[in-house]
Amino acid sequence: MKYYSTKNKNSFYSLRDAVIKGLPDDNGLFMPESIPVLPKTFFDNLKGMDIRTIAYEVANAWFVNDVPASELRSMVGDAYPFDAPLIYIDDETYIQELFHGPTLAFKDFGARFMSRLMGWMVKDEKEKLTILVATSGDTGSAVASGFFNVPGIEVIILYPSGKVSALQEKQLTTWGGNIRAIEVNGTFDDCQLMVKSAFLDPELKSKYQLTSANSINISRLVPQCFYYFRAAAQLKHLKTKFSFVVPSGNFGNLTAGLFAQRMGLPIHSFVAATNANAVVPEYLSSGKFGPKNSVATISNAMDVGNPSNFWRMTDLFHDSVEEMRKMISGYSYNDSQTRSMMKAVYESNHYIVDPHTAIGVCAWRDHQKKNVIAKSTTSNSHLGIILETAHPVKFLPSVKEVIGFEPEIPSQLLSVIDKEKVAEKMDTGFNNLKNYLM
Ligand SMILES: *Cc1c(COP(=O)(O)O)cnc(C)c1O
Repeated sequence: MKYYSTKNKNSFYSLRDAVIKGLPDDNGLFMPESIPVLPKTFFDNLKGMDIRTIAYEVANAWFVNDVPASELRSMVGDAYPFDAPLIYIDDETYIQELFHGPTLAFKDFGARFMSRLMGWMVKDEKEKLTILVATSGDTGSAVASGFFNVPGIEVIILYPSGKVSALQEKQLTTWGGNIRAIEVNGTFDDCQLMVKSAFLDPELKSKYQLTSANSINISRLVPQCFYYFRAAAQLKHLKTKFSFVVPSGNFGNLTAGLFAQRMGLPIHSFVAATNANAVVPEYLSSGKFGPKNSVATISNAMDVGNPSNFWRMTDLFHDSVEEMRKMISGYSYNDSQTRSMMKAVYESNHYIVDPHTAIGVCAWRDHQKKNVIAKSTTSNSHLGIILETAHPVKFLPSVKEVIGFEPEIPSQLLSVIDKEKVAEKMDTGFNNLKNYLM
């Protein structure tokens, strides 16, 4: 399989280039020249299929000519000792829990596969691969956890001092081994600028083989297809009319769902749920894409004003907003609507959702109301599967404020609380990072 850039469909790259480079030189995004379709036998056998078997079949369809099957099998076996179960909310609403990985957010699915794939790609190289990543919290921990102890790869995480939660900081700074953390006396944007400058610096580039691990890497997107298939494997049968509701920021998760659908999974449609950063819902209603500066919300992992994967989505719909509208509906909510829904779900189901997932529930409820005529005929019932992108304890202050108590902290987090933080303190400015690396 070859990959093209969304900005130039005539130049093709290998899987290795796409994964190690992350972004094409023209600043577009890598897209597959074609999306593989799975055979009928796969769908005939899908019911009850476990996550690792699904991951292997899906990954093999994409990478069959690039990675040996035995390697793929051991990568997914190692990456996914956890599942993505469906939780019943009501007859037309399920939630899919994507937080059973080590860092309690769906980003573990992408980061754990990417780390093993990159590890395999560089294993015979003499030169180490150095991954530089700036984080506002969740991405850094998923990347650290994914790459921990992967031979031939070093990870350096930059995070803004005092701007990640105490638990998140522990998740970034207590690894040791091949993971290093730098605590930057500045903001997330300062960290990101330092990282971007490093990629452009000739001296650093000659000393290090540098790469990024951000969420637009194609090797983080493909593994995000896995749980869409795993959700379908838990349905009574594939004839159920089902849609996915995706709490979205940078729109990687939703793009992966579109890939899964093009691979043959009979998904009826998608509901894109955003917070006040509503660039994509606005595009769906007006036909105009207007990126903005992001505004801060309690669902901060979705505070994205210029979603990168929008360009992959328009590519899939041939730049036609009408085509995209047929498949994706958009809804957006403010913080007070988010809090009310967290409360409502807890009161009706004794189930705690984090702020991101609550926005998904809001969108599904409004979508159901809009489509009430279809809903009234029971033979035509329509199931919404809301992706639960993170565990509620990752957003403890707002969860506690709304439901009135602290949910139990899962063992993955408890294990880091007593570990000692190790971080290099640094002032902002690329030269400080460069001196440190040289
Ligand atoms: C990253 C993240 C999102 C947004 O996912 P995208 O793929 O960027 O749309 C939503 N919720 C949580 C908890 C996240 O960490």
